[in-house]
Amino acid sequence: VRLLEEIPLSTLLIVLSLFAGGYLASALSLWLGARWFKVERATLQRALVATLFIWLLSISLHFFFQRLQSAVAAQSLLALGVELCAGLLVTWLAITVIFRTTFWRAIGTWLPTLVPNFALVALIQLILVPHVVAAFIVPTYSMAPTLLGPHQKGICPHCGQVATLYYNPEFPPLADTAKLGMCKSCQKAGIVIDVAPEIFEADRFLVNKLLTPRRWDLVVFRSLQDPSIHYVKRLVGLPSEEVVMKDGAIWINGVKQDPPAEIAKLTFDADPAITMEGWGSPERPMQLGAGDYFVVGDFGQRSADSRMWGSIPRKEIEGVVTVIYWPFSRWRLFR
Ligand SMILES: [Zn+2]
Repeated sequence: VRLLEEIPLSTLLIVLSLFAGGYLASALSLWLGARWFKVERATLQRALVATLFIWLLSISLHFFFQRLQSAVAAQSLLALGVELCAGLLVTWLAITVIFRTTFWRAIGTWLPTLVPNFALVALIQLILVPHVVAAFIVPTYSMAPTLLGPHQKGICPHCGQVATLYYNPEFPPLADTAKLGMCKSCQKAGIVIDVAPEIFEADRFLVNKLLTPRRWDLVVFRSLQDPSIHYVKRLVGLPSEEVVMKDGAIWINGVKQDPPAEIAKLTFDADPAITMEGWGSPERPMQLGAGDYFVVGDFGQRSADSRMWGSIPRKEIEGVVTVIYWPFSRWRLFR
């Protein structure tokens, strides 16, 4: 774990090496299958090409069915069955064409790939996701402008640049106060003007569970009220520290902290009028216990966090946000 902290992009390396290993094992087993079924053109090159082709097709099919499912709101089990059948058919046809063999021999050739593919799925489900790297999607906007849920774009009333506004399909904004958005440029909250109708999808990101959380990291943790709910917030207070928010800044043990450049214009405030409890305000400094952390949302006016709930114990922290991987235009590496 120590070593991991020293390696830049360690989360991406773990994920990429797992998929590269899975790909090679899959291609190798396809090649063995082709030899076993005495397919004439059973070369390793063809197996590598076929596997790449099958993986790309399966991913495209998966995206297609996801879109279809959200469009028609169909039964998810039925959609899964149809997706599986379509995936198998496309796989067998691809092998038939690439190895120039019969359809039935193609199925035989494909059979051995079940072993590495099941092993890969088991590795992901039993080890990777519970203990190493997990993927999340941002449902809300308390971490804007750093992480965005489903949103619309408009103009910031302070600086005239693009500001984002949370889009909730169940409650489209009716009142002007609901149009409170966050500006990426001046990092101020404001009533967004000239809101365009286009809706942008939520950020998807990876969390590394092996990294030690540091100040200013984004962390995912389980809700203290309901452990099935996950939140993502910015970690500002570490164990045994005293946290106070004053003059728009974070003060730790009486020392004003400089945030990283990308959030330098954000202001921090624990005003009880916004946060109810006002933990971390000058009137109610937060003295953290030995295993406790203090987290806040970047979009302070629209974030429920440690200012309301108090500290978060270490055991509830799932991991550190390391990369936004989708949508691709929002790609960003954190740690
Ligand atoms: Zn602005």
